[in-house]
Amino acid sequence: MEKTIAAISTAVSVSGIGIVRISGEESMDVISRIYRSKGGKKDIRKAASHTIHYGYIYDGEELVDEVLVMIMKAPRTFTGEDTVEIDCHGGVYAMNRVLETVLKNGAKIAEPGEFTKRAFLNGRLDLSQAEAVMDVIQAKNQSALNCSMSQLKGSVKKVITQIRSELIYHIAYIESALDDPEHISLDGYPEQLLKVVKIQEKKMDHLIATASDGKMIREGIRTVILGKPNAGKSSMLNLLTGENRAIVTDIAGTTRDVLEEYINLHGITLKMADTAGIRQTEDVVEKIGVGKAKELAKDADLILYVVDSSTPLDENDHEIMKMLEGKKAIVLYNKTDLDPAVTTEDIRALVSHPVIPVSAKEETGIGELEEQIRKLFFQGEITFNDQVYITNARHKEALTDALASLKMVEQSIIDDMPEDFFSIDLMSAYESLGRIIGESVGEDLVNEIFSKFCMGK
Ligand code: GDP
Repeated sequence: MEKTIAAISTAVSVSGIGIVRISGEESMDVISRIYRSKGGKKDIRKAASHTIHYGYIYDGEELVDEVLVMIMKAPRTFTGEDTVEIDCHGGVYAMNRVLETVLKNGAKIAEPGEFTKRAFLNGRLDLSQAEAVMDVIQAKNQSALNCSMSQLKGSVKKVITQIRSELIYHIAYIESALDDPEHISLDGYPEQLLKVVKIQEKKMDHLIATASDGKMIREGIRTVILGKPNAGKSSMLNLLTGENRAIVTDIAGTTRDVLEEYINLHGITLKMADTAGIRQTEDVVEKIGVGKAKELAKDADLILYVVDSSTPLDENDHEIMKMLEGKKAIVLYNKTDLDPAVTTEDIRALVSHPVIPVSAKEETGIGELEEQIRKLFFQGEITFNDQVYITNARHKEALTDALASLKMVEQSIIDDMPEDFFSIDLMSAYESLGRIIGESVGEDLVNEIFSKFCMGK
């Protein structure tokens, strides 16, 4: 029998309420030992499933907290096991005292992700859905959230299962025909299989192609702002972050070093590179050096190149324009509120990238910038109606392996190889796809995936 586990499932910081979650066969025993109703008479063990109970948590005779207790009995729970959630007061000490009392009374502390792992092991979720749970928690914008929610509801599982069932049908067909050649003929079958393989390859190709969009939806578009001194880079950055409230992540312990800065533009997230450099220095090219600027530009998905329209183009501009070649870039023709020393046509004659007139001072042009980014990266609106996005690198890798195996099947058919060659590679494609939904994965991988989860999830 799996041990009954418990953890604080909400953030461990001062808040209105905190939730201590218990899951496992002994959940009802644990709660019955520490819960007292207001009148003291209620036997919580007899409570109906999916009901809420007001009362107190006691550690022996010591009153710990006033709580609401949610009783959810297996199998209709997140983990598939008996589950109890204790809504307690959200003080860090109070939550820890409740947890401590739960642990003293028969539960053991859950590992990170252990609740979701149990949901997976108990068949409540497939692996792609379990991973989506984590992505929902980490979603940085609406598109990322939509994407993860659709995966949580099983969108990835559904397409993968469809492809797999098509493959397994053919594997079984070939095997039966080889076993029973008198009754099942394979005449003309390779041509038929070739068609099927090509259709499935196309589906996989398409899914793999969504992965780069998926990654950008999930992690943000890696963006760098370049421009000569005084072009208006930090003003643009302030405008973008000011309007859209940047999420700033600090490296633990060093509150002043900004690790990453994100800008949210209605469902698109820009993951800004080296904003500290821009904010601290007058001139990104001068101070960090052209070499570093080049490096930043090379790794970026998007370059925002800020041009000061009120001064003539100079060497710096020409250097930067060279860095834009072959990259996705947008020229921000800044300071349109001033008299121009260079026109948009002048710039268009030099670079093939879109040029957008903006004024950081008067705060104009941001809408056009957003629209242009959308066009460059997502071919217009991002929709989730019937599009499945692959956002997980692990899923992409498995799909790529599966596709390679199908290509081998295709080649074997073209080369007129015996049928058992087909089924070997069909089988490996089937297994590669199985890794996505968590079939044919080893315990190590499962443990590794769930260890990345947060505590209490
Ligand atoms: P950076 O060196 O590229 O980061 O440029 P800054 O953002 O520090 O801007 C340089 C100067 O240009 C500052 O004095 C800004 O106030 C000014 N500036 C930036 N954008 C505009 C604009 O759109 N219009 C005008 N008139 N001034 C601007």
